Amino acid sequence: MTLHCGLIGDPVEHSISPGIHHAFAAQTGVDLKYRKLRCNSDELAATVEQFFAEGGRGLNVTLPHKLAVMALCSDVSQAAQRAQSVNTLYARDGGGVEGSSTDGDGLVADLRRLGAPLTGARIALIGAGGAARAVVEPLLSAQPAELVWSHRNPLKLEQPVADFAGLGPLRPCANLALKGDRFDLVIHATSAGHAGQVPMLPHGLFAEGGWAYDLSYGQPAQPYLNWAEGEGAARVIDGHGMLIEQAALSFALWTGQHPDTAPLHR
Ligand code: NDP
Repeated sequence: MTLHCGLIGDPVEHSISPGIHHAFAAQTGVDLKYRKLRCNSDELAATVEQFFAEGGRGLNVTLPHKLAVMALCSDVSQAAQRAQSVNTLYARDGGGVEGSSTDGDGLVADLRRLGAPLTGARIALIGAGGAARAVVEPLLSAQPAELVWSHRNPLKLEQPVADFAGLGPLRPCANLALKGDRFDLVIHATSAGHAGQVPMLPHGLFAEGGWAYDLSYGQPAQPYLNWAEGEGAARVIDGHGMLIEQAALSFALWTGQHPDTAPLHR
């Protein structure tokens, strides 16, 4: 029986997710078809409802629906609830649709694959949007020495930091107040690169051997990664690997099969 899966968002045309999921399907022998479903916010509820009513197995969710889609789920995982972000929907066996997020675990899987500084490391996370929220709990689970969560407007971090209280050593900070701090890993999670920009950040953020990681991939990652290289970062990595790893985790939720991601990493 063919498992029908897909991606909902607006826009979705640029997405390479179908290629990734079809490669996983070929590798695992699962009969799975994955398509792009473009829908705006007004069409979201009807699109999701129709997809699952027609027997769809699962959906990935991208901008701008990661928060709004939570209201359409019968159940949302605790981590996705804390992150206020759902990137994976799947049909439950007994009926209903479950929402979960694989973004953060995908990032941590990619960092582990690369051998990036993680457990015991000093990590900075820049940005306070949905993607940043989604990676906080998995990063804390990896037990860094400290996770400093930084944004241009620290007021925007007050509630999010309270939501993750007690999960690990998390400290909010303003971007410019990072001055004088040194990190083993600086993760850029803003959308500034899509406008060809880099957030205003102080010089000297990278510790000796420190890494830079951008959640964006391809061209939008370049402004930050170029800046980080100029700042002396030892390794600069874009989010292409995270995209593959989060896809693998979604694929596993839909099919029960964990694909080998190694052949897809460039
Ligand atoms: P959001 O729109 O939810 O958030 C964007 C964030 O960027 C906000 O905190 C915003 O700040 C901040 N920002 C934008 N411009 C600037 C700037 N010039 N200086 C400082 N801060 C800025 O986006 P997402 O969190 O969903 O996505 C962020 C990035 O992560 C995107 O590039 C996306 O492609 C990538 N991503 C990658 C994934 C992967 O699998 N590799 C998965 C998910 C996301 P403010 O609130 O003040 O406006």
